[in-house]
Amino acid sequence: MNRYYTKNVAQRHANNKKQKMINPPSVLIPESEIQQRVRELGAQLSVDYTGEELVLLGVLRGAVVFYADLARAIALPLRFEFLQLASYYDDMEPAQVQLIRGGSDYLQDRHILIVEDIVDTGHTLNFLIEHLLLFNPKTVKVCTLLDKPSRREVSVNVDYFGFEIPNAFVVGYGLDYAQKYRNLPYIGVLEPAD
Ligand code: 5GP
Repeated sequence: MNRYYTKNVAQRHANNKKQKMINPPSVLIPESEIQQRVRELGAQLSVDYTGEELVLLGVLRGAVVFYADLARAIALPLRFEFLQLASYYDDMEPAQVQLIRGGSDYLQDRHILIVEDIVDTGHTLNFLIEHLLLFNPKTVKVCTLLDKPSRREVSVNVDYFGFEIPNAFVVGYGLDYAQKYRNLPYIGVLEPAD
């Protein structure tokens, strides 16, 4: 997801550790495992939505790489839609999430599957689901590549996930640090500089 933070998430991680994260990312989930898991998710979704038309709703920009692979692993008629959110975090205030791009005319009476890169505190998904429900879709479900359940601040229902990961700042396969690393084919962890 493209996010605009009063304090960028990665920067907050770095500040917390008072270290710079400049070493190359170390592999947390290799490319082959991601590809295998995406195929499994696609097969599961093809069964669960058999006979239905599904709207794949990608959250820009972080979910794009996962979205492209997942869509091709689903053997169903799909409609492609995207939206973009901005999140504002301030340590003194609850997280503020805003929709900054994306229409709503396709939502009514459709099965919507939100495709996310990672669920962390849950504020983003919570906002998005409440927003989508205003337009009376048939169903709204969530498929995220990564889930960090230990970081949750608000409860959200994650229907499908690729991998649960510990509380580390990850990059690659669409996820960035300062707009870098999105094109890594694996999920990596940024290590503090020595
Ligand atoms: P939350 O669930 O806290 O509202 O936010 C989820 C968003 O925070 C993700 O879509 C992503 O943009 C960002 N985020 C959370 N954890 C990480 C992480 O480990 N790495 C990266 N690159 N982004 C993260």
